[in-house]
Amino acid sequence: MFIDISSLKKSYSSGLVKTEVLKGIGMKLEKGEIGVILGPSGSGKSTLMNIIGGIDSGDSGKVVVDGVEINNLSSDLLTEYRREDIGFIFQFYNLVPNLTVGENIEVVSNISKSPLNIDEVLAAVGLQDKKRRFPRELSGGEQQRVSIARAIVKNPKLLLCDEPTGALDYQTSRSILRLLQQVNKKYGTTILMITHNAAIAAMANRVFKVRSGEIVEATVNEVTVPAERIEW
Ligand code: ADP
Ligand code: MG
Repeated sequence: MFIDISSLKKSYSSGLVKTEVLKGIGMKLEKGEIGVILGPSGSGKSTLMNIIGGIDSGDSGKVVVDGVEINNLSSDLLTEYRREDIGFIFQFYNLVPNLTVGENIEVVSNISKSPLNIDEVLAAVGLQDKKRRFPRELSGGEQQRVSIARAIVKNPKLLLCDEPTGALDYQTSRSILRLLQQVNKKYGTTILMITHNAAIAAMANRVFKVRSGEIVEATVNEVTVPAERIEW
């Protein structure tokens, strides 16, 4: 198993009040698969993804990614894991406004060890002619394509997408999801994606339904639907 999580718990405390956000999560995803985490707002989806991506940590339980138990890594190895193995995509793109598209990809990413380069990933996301543009000159969908290019240029083992289409209209969402499917196929990148839109689950190999910090249902889709055929 590429991702193998068991009994993962996490609480946040504020003052005397302690809230258990993850109540013993278990989930598995194979290498090269697309997994979707589905659940309402506040159910713990981002917390779970942030722990998998090494930008937050669990209180107890096991999180194994590609054979490495990430909760046991030294801080140096954890930094290396985040920089080299993980690509992150967020709802609001998080591009640097005063840098061009090309510079956004170059500055934020760890390209030196990657077999890919900026021009190749810009072509892969359909923005080969936008390298010298600034984020404000692009539509929301194009900005999300830049953030995908930025995430994939280091050829990550795992692409984590936290509501990647949350700020986009349905048509644009379809094209972004299609692009993620193409990345998965072309580079063999394992993808884990958060959404609260049940329709998106049809494109995943595995679907994890989360309710208040627990996985209440895990399904395997024998057949996955191409993103352009998702019915909203
Ligand atoms: P989702 O992504 O499903 O909307 P989150 O994982 O963001 O859910 O949040 C789950 C719960 O944990 C929410 O109640 C949220 O307020 C709380 N929470 C998330 N991050 C923090 C934090 N850093 N400190 C305190 N509480 C947090
Ligand atoms: Mg969230």
